[in-house]
Amino acid sequence: MFTKILIANRGEIALRILRACREMGIRTVAVHSTADSDAMHVRLADESVCIGPPSLTESYLNKAAILSAATITGAEAIHPGYGFLSENAEFAELVEMHDIVFVGPTSQHIRMMGDKIQAKATMKKFNVPLVPGSDGAVKDVESAKKIALEVGYPVLIKATAGGGGRGMKVAKNESELEEAWHIARSEAKMAFGNDEVYLEKYMDKPRHIEVQIIGDQHGNVLFLGERDCSLQRRHQKVLEEATSPVLTKEQRQFIGDVSANAMRKLGYCNAGTLEFLYQDGHFCFIEMNTRLQVEHPVTEFISNVDLVSEQIRVAAGEALSVKQNDVHFQGHAIECRINAEDPITFVPNPGKINVFHAPGGLGVRLDSALYVGYSIPSYYDSMIAKLIVHAPNRPLAIARMKRALEEMVISGVKTNIALHQKILSNEEFIKGEYTIHWLERFIEKNIKAC
Ligand code: ADP
Repeated sequence: MFTKILIANRGEIALRILRACREMGIRTVAVHSTADSDAMHVRLADESVCIGPPSLTESYLNKAAILSAATITGAEAIHPGYGFLSENAEFAELVEMHDIVFVGPTSQHIRMMGDKIQAKATMKKFNVPLVPGSDGAVKDVESAKKIALEVGYPVLIKATAGGGGRGMKVAKNESELEEAWHIARSEAKMAFGNDEVYLEKYMDKPRHIEVQIIGDQHGNVLFLGERDCSLQRRHQKVLEEATSPVLTKEQRQFIGDVSANAMRKLGYCNAGTLEFLYQDGHFCFIEMNTRLQVEHPVTEFISNVDLVSEQIRVAAGEALSVKQNDVHFQGHAIECRINAEDPITFVPNPGKINVFHAPGGLGVRLDSALYVGYSIPSYYDSMIAKLIVHAPNRPLAIARMKRALEEMVISGVKTNIALHQKILSNEEFIKGEYTIHWLERFIEKNIKAC
């Protein structure tokens, strides 16, 4: 096992990894920008290295500075967390070249899944169901029109290198397709430096259901259940739950088997998430994330598996400490992402925390790097906490989350706590009747109109 790990991240996820390391007896190195000198992850780590000024490219995305910090401190492994360099194949390769272990899959698997066309082709080979659409990149608008007629309108134009919903455009008919084609390509070029696009059938009422897997270097792959992440605003997840309120046990087993088998054949190691759109009883693969997800705590609650310590264990070459037969999904878990943002405009609202009271009690977990007196820097993501609850069933989990949100006090910045409370009291949400489009309509009706 490693004796020292460098954590190439900040905020709550840096703390999450740090805590796992401490419990495993591993020393930690925090890296930080000058804007984060007072951050909690820096305070709690055994050692810390300042890697640059506030801007992301000069600090948390600065590969050379992070590698130097690992070399100077003698870290044997780097955990990238999520976001930042976690899905950067070049960084994973550099880490491997420096004889440091990257706590994640191989650079080859990161590269394969980062290219959405290659990811879909690979999944097709392993019998994972896909969204109907083009077989690979579409070269011109005439070919796009032909494919759209075959799969049927509406269609979605997506960027091969896509991420965060950028470079994605819907077209309801042929004339819209012409315009959407050019916009999607130029957006993709601007965002990713690559204007290659492909076509998918646009699904009108899907749920976003994703499957958590984790593999080791000994050929074992575990299925740790699904998460329903349909509640999104502008393709950003807001509230997630596990298990999905709409899947039967048989459907869960089916998609778990399909996903774990594919990953076994691929020889995939470490944590990964296969994302599906689910509509009318069918699963359609859209992409794979080759890293730990923000919403991993709901999976940890229902499966009772510590994903981060398993990630570290398998990166060190050990076998997973759990067998599939030992995994029994229990109860229901919900996560609310708490953002420092204006509740009406959703514009980020960084500032100094004057009062902070964390909720507690049975089945309540708060992953956050906040403390009283902390000034949230304006350079980074607006998510300041994740509140996660676990209860024997979904109605009890909803009641527990409402109670925990009532207890939570954050003053100094505006937050989206009220939005979560409104969602949790809504009849349709309570019945589990929502799709990926539900939250935007809910906000339109209940927030903007107020
Ligand atoms: P990105 O990598 O940019 O996040 P994804 O492929 O993961 O792109 O899609 C992001 C979101 O866009 C999904 O969670 C879903 O809400 C929506 N989406 C993606 N593909 C489709 C589709 N074929 N039909 C309808 N909605 C889609």
